[in-house]
Amino acid sequence: MSHLFYQGHGRKPVLDQARGVYMWDTDGKRYLDGSSGAMVCNIGHSNANVLAAMREQMECATFGYRLHFETEASERLAAKTVEKMPPGLNKVFFVSGGSEAIESAMKLARQYAVSTGRGSRWKVISRSPSYHGCTLGALAVTGYRSLTAPFAPMMREMPKVPAPRAYLDGRDPEDPATGRHYADMLEDLILMEGEDSVLAFLLEPVGGASTGALVPPAGYMERIREICDRHGVLLIMDEVMTGAGRTGAFLGCEHWNIRPDIVVLSKGFAAGYAPLGGIVAPDWMVAPVLDQGGFAHGFTYAGNPLACAAGAAVLDEIDAQGLVENAALMGARLKARLHALAQKHEIIGDVRGKGLLLAFEFMADPVTKRPLPKELRAFDRFVQIAYDNGLIVYSRRTRDGVEGDHILVCPPLIVGDTHL
Ligand code: PLP
Repeated sequence: MSHLFYQGHGRKPVLDQARGVYMWDTDGKRYLDGSSGAMVCNIGHSNANVLAAMREQMECATFGYRLHFETEASERLAAKTVEKMPPGLNKVFFVSGGSEAIESAMKLARQYAVSTGRGSRWKVISRSPSYHGCTLGALAVTGYRSLTAPFAPMMREMPKVPAPRAYLDGRDPEDPATGRHYADMLEDLILMEGEDSVLAFLLEPVGGASTGALVPPAGYMERIREICDRHGVLLIMDEVMTGAGRTGAFLGCEHWNIRPDIVVLSKGFAAGYAPLGGIVAPDWMVAPVLDQGGFAHGFTYAGNPLACAAGAAVLDEIDAQGLVENAALMGARLKARLHALAQKHEIIGDVRGKGLLLAFEFMADPVTKRPLPKELRAFDRFVQIAYDNGLIVYSRRTRDGVEGDHILVCPPLIVGDTHL
């Protein structure tokens, strides 16, 4: 009997070894890690250079409290992170995961507003569906009813705009009018809520678990930036899943060349080698907060030296192996194969994504986009069949957590043609 209850009543195989793109259970069965865990293990498992860097750090110091010491590892990771950011984003705050990072981004934005005389602004608009984490603050900006509903009385839910799911709404994603249509919903909502109450807009550049690798329609991202500028709203880019090269650029937002005000990182940042997340913000936002007594926020494990040493070594590996470029190259090949699969199986109603953040969605009818009957539990069954055949994929309900089935196909960025 297990004392854990991560996965309800179900039992999973017990993990024994993981190397590169493969994992083995204690029965010796091999699995291809087709989802990098939960889109985490971007550089693959058991990378020798990362393990060596972690070992070296462990032999020096495993913990130094952030209010007592800086560490070389956290300084080095901060410098490497800033190098990879759009110009102007030069201040880094480390945490231990994605939800903590989202909380930190929202609190920094709020404290900046308070420090600069804009204390009326507190609402963080996000999208529905979306997933930004499971702590109560991150849930308040998550648009995924089955996850948020039980906790609604315990949190102050934030306003949501529809995610730009052109494929479901019968709109052409290549037509700039489509991008304008969805972006303008943000402007309408800002005006409806009252511009002076809106602090920030939070989004993933390419949707992750909630929308299944949703790529925004033409013109959407650029117009979002314009709207935020026009109304003094900060733009927070949740790069927890898209960051660290996953979409074929270091940050997902680079595909549209737009400038976020805060970047949120986790998952591929330390690629599963240690719990790590972080936010990156510009000096103009951080300085007023520090001038007025400092950021009233921080976790005990923030800037943990072992996690930072792992993160810095992971970024080194991404560069040394050209993994961002490989994600773009292999992603295009894998997407072509998923399209070929969709040609053969009409149950696959949509294929989407960027780089190695790819997904396909099951539908009863690819023309009307009608989802499969929920009782079929298509994704559960697909995942089980994949598992039985030694392939790990990641699945979710597509339509606000109640119906629809998509499968994310997101192998480590080290994949080659044989793995595809
Ligand atoms: N933001 C996005 C886009 C995510 O995909 C996730 C996790 O899946 C989170 C935030 C929360 O991260 P964590 O599970 O590390 O708390």
